[in-house]
Amino acid sequence: MIEVVWFKRDLRVEDHAALSAARAPVLCLYVVEPGYWRGEDTSPRQWRFTRAALADLRTALARIGLPLVLRTGDAVAVLADLHARHGIRALHSHQETSNLWTYARDRAVARFCRAHAIPWAEHRQSGVFRALASRDRWAARFAAQMAGPILPAPRGLVPADEPEGAIPDQPRAWNPDDGLLRPQPAGRAAALGLLESFLSGRGADYRRGMSSPLTAARACSRLSPHLALGSISMREALQRVQAAQRDIAAMDPRARPIPLGAAQSLASRLHWHCHFIQKLESEPELETRAAHPAAEAARRPTAPDDPALRAWAEGRSGLPFLDACMRSLVATGWLNFRMRAMVQAVASYHLALDWRASGLVLARLFTDYEPGIHWPQVQMQSGATGINTPRIYNPVKQGLDQDPEGAFIARWIPELAHLPPALRHMPWRGDGARGYPPPMLDVAAAMRAARERLSAIRRSAGFAEAAARVYDRHGSRQRRHGQDDPMGDRARAAQRAARDRRQLSLDL
Ligand SMILES: Cc1cc2nc3c(=O)[nH]c(=O)nc-3n(C[C@H](O)[C@H](O)[C@H](O)COP(=O)(O)OP(=O)(O)OC[C@H]3O[C@@H](n4cnc5c(N)ncnc54)[C@H](O)[C@@H]3O)c2cc1C
Repeated sequence: MIEVVWFKRDLRVEDHAALSAARAPVLCLYVVEPGYWRGEDTSPRQWRFTRAALADLRTALARIGLPLVLRTGDAVAVLADLHARHGIRALHSHQETSNLWTYARDRAVARFCRAHAIPWAEHRQSGVFRALASRDRWAARFAAQMAGPILPAPRGLVPADEPEGAIPDQPRAWNPDDGLLRPQPAGRAAALGLLESFLSGRGADYRRGMSSPLTAARACSRLSPHLALGSISMREALQRVQAAQRDIAAMDPRARPIPLGAAQSLASRLHWHCHFIQKLESEPELETRAAHPAAEAARRPTAPDDPALRAWAEGRSGLPFLDACMRSLVATGWLNFRMRAMVQAVASYHLALDWRASGLVLARLFTDYEPGIHWPQVQMQSGATGINTPRIYNPVKQGLDQDPEGAFIARWIPELAHLPPALRHMPWRGDGARGYPPPMLDVAAAMRAARERLSAIRRSAGFAEAAARVYDRHGSRQRRHGQDDPMGDRARAAQRAARDRRQLSLDL
């Protein structure tokens, strides 16, 4: 009989509760699942990163005397085969909050385990809680989970006798040229390197630099794909940032490698990471259904080959700053938060596209695709939650604010590089630019129409009551970092919905 440790989005050996709980003989398993990789939200760039992280995990496991057994196929079939040949005494894994496909797969695995009387221990690996009855006091539970000890890589485990198997080049037939010019390095050393370089100086300009795509790629931590695949645990990352906060606070301000505020902001975002994933854990349907029923009823489905969707996705909208952001995302697999919010908002508000269609495009383009952050954020930036202030970004104003000289535009849209800065943002004010399309919409008119659509949704009968229910289930109870909001009640949510209605004219 063997014990199986099933690796999923936890590709590491340190702080790995499932690996630490397993008893010999141990079989460390990763299943490359073609069914998952056929999903519309997956892409070759995500696989490239996963593949490199698996190679790194294989090396790390070898150091503690354990082979990584890799199998391609259906998880239940792989487990059934192992059970038939070895007998599985126990299955260990981390709880996974991923997409609807993995949710269905986990239910199938649970059925298989029950049918064969195999105990499946699913360990919590972050501040996301299964079967959470209420959001009240979530922040306190998160803090307690994060304060736990970091488990060392286990030593002396005897491996089960099973051939390793190669990591496939591709989990399904794909066009290998996905346009990615600058893949992010994967693996634990890369993740720790990013964290250390951020805390020892690179993060000095975090707060100022995170908003502009000119500075954000360097100023931000860039931890996202590592956290999404778990090559470093959230607890280890957060505890390292908290230790740095204490060290920095004790230093003479002039000697600080980064401002205390930068470390605090990073810690807050690590908290948000789990706060968002908790939404999908509590309501997996948010991947496909709007949180607020009125927003759901107003959705107009968008086909994948919709011409406006494709022009937006390929950076051919004729709105230079928007196109520069999309082209840079296609080339690098990453975009800073503000620009992610802007490109999503333009798709949903200005172009009136279904958030699911544009969200799928972005999911495939992001190396760091994390369903639990992605879908709630996509909904939030599309006005679909009913509890967040709608932010209808103006892509021309954003360009002028975040890229005043038009340098980012010139970098990603060479057709416009010869123009003076003001015309790079608005080439239609000059003679245009050869090879670059005219704008596909009138920004002011599109924003006006979007505000009217939103207002109609927010005036619909029962809007505030439904918003209060969304807030009950998903809303942040925080007033300040680390504190629960004792007034997190329905009345407060209804007040918030009413206030948000008044803020619809927001022009960002
Ligand atoms: C429409 C949209 C889709 C998004 N999709 C994803 C996604 O698929 N995967 C993903 O990791 N992030 C997503 N984000 C959140 C955010 O943009 C990225 O986490 C961030 O840009 C990653 O860069 P970084 O690691 O340098 O972030 P940093 O600013 O250095 O933050 C550190 C970490 O905190 C977390 N974090 C930061 N901002 C947020 C946020 N607003 N909400 C939740 N967690 C946050 C991430 O894990 C991030 O790696 C999305 C945002 C929007 C608006």
